[in-house]
Amino acid sequence: MLDLRYDRVKIIRGDDAIKDNFDSISGIGRKAFLVTGKNSAVRSGARDEITEALEKLRIPYVIFDKVTENPKSLTCFDAGIICRENCCDFVIGIGGGSVIDASKAIACYALHEDFKNDTDIFECDGKCLPIVAVVTTSGTGSEANRYSVLTVGDNRKISFKSEYSYPLLSFVCPKFTVTMNDEQTVSTALDAFAHSIESFLSPKSDEVSENAALYSGREIWNVLLKSPRDPSGLSLEDREKLSYAADYAGIAIDITGTGFPHPLGYGLTIDYGIPHGKACAVFEKDFIKYNMRTEKGREKIERFSEYIGASPEEIMNKTYELSGINMKLTDDIIANIISRVEKASNFANSPYVLNKKEMFDIYKELFE
Ligand code: NAP
Ligand code: FE
Repeated sequence: MLDLRYDRVKIIRGDDAIKDNFDSISGIGRKAFLVTGKNSAVRSGARDEITEALEKLRIPYVIFDKVTENPKSLTCFDAGIICRENCCDFVIGIGGGSVIDASKAIACYALHEDFKNDTDIFECDGKCLPIVAVVTTSGTGSEANRYSVLTVGDNRKISFKSEYSYPLLSFVCPKFTVTMNDEQTVSTALDAFAHSIESFLSPKSDEVSENAALYSGREIWNVLLKSPRDPSGLSLEDREKLSYAADYAGIAIDITGTGFPHPLGYGLTIDYGIPHGKACAVFEKDFIKYNMRTEKGREKIERFSEYIGASPEEIMNKTYELSGINMKLTDDIIANIISRVEKASNFANSPYVLNKKEMFDIYKELFE
């Protein structure tokens, strides 16, 4: 593993991270608001380990288990009120990126009695209750950064971030990802890989983000190469690699943000239910193709490819193949999807800056 220091979040890694370090939760707060989705916190075993730790520490808790995929800002607004009414003074999110992102928003809503609706969060001082993250997927890296991607209304994904929305403490236990099926595992790995390459090409990248992106990119690529693989599934060693690499990719994007595959993918996720990682991966070949047109982009793609041990064409083909998306969209539908994301700052976050016609061309070529 590259020697990398990132002091924004205390991350404790390892399958026994909670059992061996449960007392690190002590002192964060007096009553916990536990945030989960419907099933995975329980199925993965993570919720039991946390409640056991809280009981040992004599910290009471309230459970909120209504977070869905692509969490709604409105759900977080409502949960913030419940958190406040129960006098909880810290939030523990147990789940995938959706739950960790929702926990950050709930921690902010809970502290802001003055908020009138579910969009005030994007205009506020960002102050939050302390957040603990227990991650059960290996993709978003939300446990290592300050981002919270929320769905506003029915069909817009908007990022909230603040200096306060870093988890104070994160537990990354690869064993919790074992209950993910192949589709979820590949999709979340593709998301983390998208973070690596998109961060590496960002004009905002620095030495820390570049090292994190290279390290995570190589680890994830080596596991992705095995997909599709034999039915016995992924080894625990590979799951460990993915979990830690996703973390590093999460640190990389904390410094740089993501590139244009992210906003281009949002419509596929919101309108057609395509998992986030796959929805980004289908655009990765265009991300490489367009950026290859600039000197800086070409130089960076060559460095990234060489480090992970693949050619740019292999990366383009593999990410496209693993996205597995095969659908047709009309011009009107494409125009509607693009109208919702065309102003995203991600489009300026790579050496090549796409214009609106090119966004449309990319969609047409993929989905005509
Ligand atoms: P997710 O949306 O959190 O979870 C997807 C599904 O997987 C859910 O049904 C969930 O079930 C289930 N699941 C989670 N862990 C599982 C486990 N161990 N075993 C079995 N099933 C499990 O997936 P994700 O890819 O981690 O997160 C995607 C979200 O994160 C998107 O909203 C995306 O925009 C956002 N995102 C955030 C960042 C960031 O930096 N903050 C970066 C990229 C993406 P339950 O509902 O039962 O929990
Ligand atoms: Fe992502």
